[in-house]
Amino acid sequence: MKTKLLYHENSFTYECSAKVVAVEGDEIALDATVFFPGGGGQMADRGTISWNDYQIQATVLAMNKRDDVVWHTLSCTPPAVGTEVVGTIDWDFRYKMMRTHTALHILCGTIWKEYGVQVTGGQMYPDRARMDFAMENLSKERIAEIEEKINQAVQADYPIRVYKLPREKAFEIPDLIRTKINLLPPEIEEVRIVEIVGLDLQADGGTHVAHTKEVGGIKITKTENKGKINKRLEIMLID
Ligand SMILES: [Zn+2]
Repeated sequence: MKTKLLYHENSFTYECSAKVVAVEGDEIALDATVFFPGGGGQMADRGTISWNDYQIQATVLAMNKRDDVVWHTLSCTPPAVGTEVVGTIDWDFRYKMMRTHTALHILCGTIWKEYGVQVTGGQMYPDRARMDFAMENLSKERIAEIEEKINQAVQADYPIRVYKLPREKAFEIPDLIRTKINLLPPEIEEVRIVEIVGLDLQADGGTHVAHTKEVGGIKITKTENKGKINKRLEIMLID
């Protein structure tokens, strides 16, 4: 059993029909889904699953990806195995996540390019995101400089490409090695790459916009010391 991950193929697909392939309690597994289950700092999608010609509509309360199967926890009694359903994500929420996720990659790529500093962690929320860096000197001037540079990258409107590479090929790319690609489980034979052309390259399972201009403006709203050299930056999108 394997769910076709439509969000990996085209992050702009917000609805799809699918068939129920398994039911466990209030969870259902589908043969295909547009719902991003969460991971890599990106929050799980919200939305509905409908059946019987939209006569029954359940809210997706939670998501779980176990092995190759995406499970959707429903707000009502699930339909039987074999039922044709329509899954629809909350597009406003998802698109915001896509913009935020791309904004974090812009930040990550810029900080690496300008200061040679590595990211140590990150998390996205509906209205903001944070990223941790191993950076010793984070003065007011430097924060202003970072903010200016990431907004320049937005305005440069770099295209974002998503593709898969065989594991061996991915392991030859220095930009990917620095992002701890070596921590990928050995059974993963293909690595999904998200590339902001000219700025950033990462092994990534999340959803992104197609051009950096879609991000809008980025504001650095907060900085925090997290340990001796770890710094945390919080960002917000401006429309
Ligand atoms: Zn990412």
